[in-house]
Amino acid sequence: MTLPSIPLSGVIGDPIAHSKSPKLHGYWLRKYGLNGQYVPLEVETDDLANVLKAMPRMGFVGCNVTLPHKERALHCVDQITDRATLIGAVNTIIFRNDGTSLGDNTDGYGFIENLRQGAPNWLADTGPAVVLGAGGAARAVIASLLDAGVAEIFLTNRTRARSEQLREDFGARVIIVDWIQAGNVLEKAATLVNTTSLGMIGKPELRVPLDGLQKNTVVTDLVYTPIQTPLLAKASSKGCTTVDGLGMLLHQAVPGFERWFGRRPVVDDETRQAIQ
Ligand code: NAP
Repeated sequence: MTLPSIPLSGVIGDPIAHSKSPKLHGYWLRKYGLNGQYVPLEVETDDLANVLKAMPRMGFVGCNVTLPHKERALHCVDQITDRATLIGAVNTIIFRNDGTSLGDNTDGYGFIENLRQGAPNWLADTGPAVVLGAGGAARAVIASLLDAGVAEIFLTNRTRARSEQLREDFGARVIIVDWIQAGNVLEKAATLVNTTSLGMIGKPELRVPLDGLQKNTVVTDLVYTPIQTPLLAKASSKGCTTVDGLGMLLHQAVPGFERWFGRRPVVDDETRQAIQ
């Protein structure tokens, strides 16, 4: 008699010890009583393609990919979803039964789901969004805001060339604002998103003046260490609805978990407690 195999998944990065994903998936596997394992995998850049090729033969049904491999992973899978192509990075891989691999990106999905859960009255068509930062995470945020129906995004970044690249990629609904002028567009914002690493423990503070911020603006920060960032604290003191970045991390994990282990997990307060 052959025993059923154990579906394996994991997260590939370098370094990887800090990742919260093994704790999160482990919690859901236990909570739902599912057969499966999710492990952290430290893989160097030069080994990524070979590791991804070998994983299905080792019992892996898929994996997450994190820094610094998200862009390179685009070139190491057989097929890429439209949203991963648009974002220009892969964070979730599915190994299919026929031996082929599918690269997806769930960061934008995670961002919007978190926003909708944390600010249930948020509507895409209320007004423009202001996005601070034009790095890798900003691409997912912009793609998902535009897809949700936000008409205009004011994008501001220290390095203007990166904003210009995003405008080229996403089109004229993205309007570039000089970093030095960032505070001047906040009055117009129905949504304010910090996608920079500013405000994170160990990083400089976010110095964008918040005087123009209106209390009906929904403010969200991708930084989740600390969970209550100085930006969220200030926005909250002005009466804004605020949404922290931890929820994005949790929501982006949902599609992968469902696909690999066969059950759609719920993101709730218990899930948040479990990984802190
Ligand atoms: P990234 O590609 O390295 O981009 C970093 C961004 O921060 C760039 O816009 C960069 O501006 C800006 N920045 C860094 N130092 C700055 C400074 N001193 N002054 C002004 N701007 C500065 O990183 P990323 O992958 O986009 O991640 C950004 C943040 O989002 C990180 O804190 C990350 O942990 C967080 N994140 C959270 C989630 C989640 O699930 N909650 C998911 C993804 C990312 P320049 O272009 O001028 O360098």
